[in-house]
Amino acid sequence: MIKRIGSGMRCAAILATLSASLLSISAGAPSAPPHPGAAAVVDANAMLQLLVDGNRRFVEGHLRARDELPRRRELVNGQKPIAVIVSCSDSRVPPELVFDQDLGDVFVIRTAGEVVGDLELGSIEYAVEHLGTPLIIVLGHQGCGAVTAAVKGGHAEGHIAAIVKAIEPAVKESKDEPGDAIDNAVRANVRDVARTLRASDPILSHFVHDGKVKVVGGRYDLDSGKVELLPDDAAKP
Ligand SMILES: [Zn+2]
Repeated sequence: MIKRIGSGMRCAAILATLSASLLSISAGAPSAPPHPGAAAVVDANAMLQLLVDGNRRFVEGHLRARDELPRRRELVNGQKPIAVIVSCSDSRVPPELVFDQDLGDVFVIRTAGEVVGDLELGSIEYAVEHLGTPLIIVLGHQGCGAVTAAVKGGHAEGHIAAIVKAIEPAVKESKDEPGDAIDNAVRANVRDVARTLRASDPILSHFVHDGKVKVVGGRYDLDSGKVELLPDDAAKP
């Protein structure tokens, strides 16, 4: 059972994983506020549970009461986000709200259709390598305009064409699946992006291989507000 116990302490799971050396460091400065970087060793599944719990609060309309001022001050000295969230830029899918998280909790990369290129991969690598973030969520959503454009085909203006092009493989992969073509492509696109992240050399692939980072796909439902975690296809080619 993961439960927040205060703005300075991130969660019981993190506390349980603090090493003896970190404890001795904090013991040397008992009056200092807890530094986010102290939570060095974290578990991706525990972090995922925090997000699942937050999404449940969002769905039920019971977001946590917030007092951001002390949290903001605490974060001046550093950040230790619990997850990287690679999400669509769609204004209806803001990860901080969807997962009911606070300042400093989630490291967010957003592009239309949650497509990733070198700039996005570099941002994700920074979070994984330098901030020690153990969990990456790729978040697609119902009714994604970028995916819809890719499914419908035709000419895309300007740089939008690059986004549509990046989603086209997912459209091809899912075109023979039964059901809604757009939603099937949304799910396939999440799988593709997650697969790209897992295979991204030299940093992300290394962390995934060593079990230091977990990549999870999700689909946000506009109607219900619920994030459905998609099956792990890490074993698939
Ligand atoms: Zn979208």
